[in-house]
Parts: sequence; structure tokens; C-alpha cells
Amino acid sequence: MSAPRVIPFGRPWITDEDRAAVQAVLNGPVLTHGPQCGAFEAEFAACLRGEAHCVAVSSCMAALHLAYVQFGVRPGDEVIVPALTHTATAHAVEWVGATPVFVDCDPATGNVTPEAIAAALTPRTKAISVVHFIGIPCAMPPIMALAERHGLRVIEDCALALGARYDGIHVGLFGDAGCFSFYPVKHITTGEGGMFVTRDGDVARTVRRLRAFGVDRGHAEGAAPGLYDVPTLGLNYRMGEMPAALGRVQLRRLDENLRRRRASFQGLAEALTAVPGIRVLAPVDARAASSHYCLSFVLEGDRRSLRAALVARLNAAGVGTSVYYPHPVPRLTYYRTKYGYDAARYPAAAAISDCSVALPVGPHVGAEDVEFMTTVVADALREVLV
Ligand SMILES: *Cc1c(COP(=O)(O)O)cnc(C)c1O
Repeated sequence: MSAPRVIPFGRPWITDEDRAAVQAVLNGPVLTHGPQCGAFEAEFAACLRGEAHCVAVSSCMAALHLAYVQFGVRPGDEVIVPALTHTATAHAVEWVGATPVFVDCDPATGNVTPEAIAAALTPRTKAISVVHFIGIPCAMPPIMALAERHGLRVIEDCALALGARYDGIHVGLFGDAGCFSFYPVKHITTGEGGMFVTRDGDVARTVRRLRAFGVDRGHAEGAAPGLYDVPTLGLNYRMGEMPAALGRVQLRRLDENLRRRRASFQGLAEALTAVPGIRVLAPVDARAASSHYCLSFVLEGDRRSLRAALVARLNAAGVGTSVYYPHPVPRLTYYRTKYGYDAARYPAAAAISDCSVALPVGPHVGAEDVEFMTTVVADALREVLV
């Protein structure tokens, strides 16, 4: 008897070349401040195919935090934050003492709209953060036009959007900063890690310094090794050589990774659009090319209450699932306690949080897995409905 099929929601794609790259760093004398980090930054920039300065950091949350520090966002300022996102998007705003102003999403894509952002602006608004939800790019040109009219910074949270493009331009290159994640189940991994991306060389230089204690080796190092000055406050958000070496190898397989994701997504989406009472979240805009982080579908009408039963059946059949994201951020205890939660303000985000199921489409998913998942989902939906 063959082993039962198990398809985890996320599984990092690690090969012998990944292991060899990390081992090679360990075999050498340099574990940080070495050549791997700079090479990873340059190769990441090449991958985005745009004018980009990249600064490797310890996580996407670190990149987001650095963005607000760098742009001088502080107490008294407001930042527009999508309600439907990872808590990191809002936490970064909280850590600089500013106030997140949450906005609801488009029910078709899970993304914020320029209209919702415009409605949330106040004289205290300093920045707009946008999240390319599960890899579906936001309509960036109208958001950038709005930001320009009001003199606002735009920070793009691209944690699930490596490979996503709008009008052929990679996400993260529209705003003032783009922040990427290399957490194990994201598109590529360095264990933990992230990338701060900007088109502005001066911003990149300051963020580089902020990432490493605010240290300036400038002229002092010439006099004797170990001498430096500290002109500004800083953090330690550096990326070490082992993660950077791993990231470089992961990047080489990105095209293949994205191809596999697209194929699995399309196979699943085709089958699932035929199932009544569910709605697949996908771009509605022909100019938006998704990075296919996962396939999320939303249960509608009288199927809304069936998620727990459906997920239990899928998991029992060996299909791993997840939820993006488990709550609209303003409903999480920390935010609810601090700001109160008005459910009427985020109906679309709450519907996705409460009634959606995310299926795996990562590189570990094969064509047979897609067929299997399609059958299991259709069967499970039929069963839970009776
Ligand atoms: C995962 C995720 C993050 C956090 O990334 P880390 O690298 O773990 O800090 C931030 N934003 C979004 C939208 C995410 O999905």
C-alpha cells in the first residue's frame, strides 16, 4: 500500500545546492559583514528588473520598521493601513508611535482601493501602506497619484508578492519603499529574512546605516581598524552571511518557482470556479500579474458558516490549508483594546477572514496534487452541504 497523500500548506523548497551554499559559508571565516549579503542585494535588484537599491535585513517587519523610521513618521502622525493584512504591517506603524488608520478591502481581490484610501485621509495622514494581498498587485498608479497630490509616503508590503507585477513593473518599485519577506513559507526563504527596496539612493544609504546601529565607519576606519562614530540612533536588523547565501540560491530558482505556482493556481482556479457558492480571489485588472502565493476562495451565501467543517474534511484528507488573514488587524486583541473595533467598517475584510480557505500552490505541489485537491474540495463541499 502506498502512503496516503499529504500536501502541506507550505513547505520550503530546499535542495542540495541550498545546503551546499550554507555549508560553504560555515566552512569559511566570515559569518556577517561578508560578500554574500551584498551579492544577494545585487541579485535581488536584478531580479526586480528595475532601478532598485536593495538592503537585506532580518525580516519584512524589520524592513517596514526601518521605512517608518527613515521617513520620520512619528507620534501624532496617521498611516493608512489595510485591515486585511499580517499584523506586522500595523505593528511597524505602532513602533514609531504613529496611529494606524485601517481601511477595508475590495471583496474581489482583498486589496485596498484608491477610493477607500482617499476616504480615510485626514490632515494628520503622513503615509499610506499598501499590501499586495496574497500576491495580487494593487492598482498602484492611482494610489501613487493620490499620494503625490497629498504629499504622502507610500510603503508597499510585498511579503507575499515576490514576482508580482503591475503594468510589467515589479511591486515594491512604485512607492517610496518596498518590503519583502523570506520567512520559510513565503516565495523564497532565508530561514528568517527580508529586503528593503527603494528607487532612492539616499534613502538606501540611510537605511543601510539604520540597519547596523547607526554606525558610520567613514573616515575613522582609515586610522585604525575598529574605530567608528555613531551619528544617529540605529537598530541591528542586519542579514548574516548564511541566510544571504541561501537567498542567492533560492533566487536562482525563482522563475521555476513562479511557473509552478502559476500552473497549480490555474489548475485549481479552473476547477473551483465551476463549484457553486465559492469565489476565488484573483486579479480583476488585466494589468495586474499575481505572484500566486496561494489560492484563497471565499464561501458565500448559505455556505458561509461551513468553513470549519470544510477545513476539517480537507485536512483529514491530507490537504493542508491556511487562512489569510485570521482576523482583520483592527479585530486583534491589541488593536481592539487600544482603538475599539467597529465591525461595520470592515465587512469585506471580515468576510475573507471568517469565510475563506487558502490552498497550497507552492513549488512542492505537483499536477497530481492539483487534481487530488480539486476532487477533495468538490467532494467536501458536497458533503458539508447535506
Ligand atoms: C508574513 C508577512 C509579514 C511578516 O514577514 P516577516 O518576514 O515574518 O517579518 C509582513 N507582511 C505580510 C503581508 C506578511 O504576509
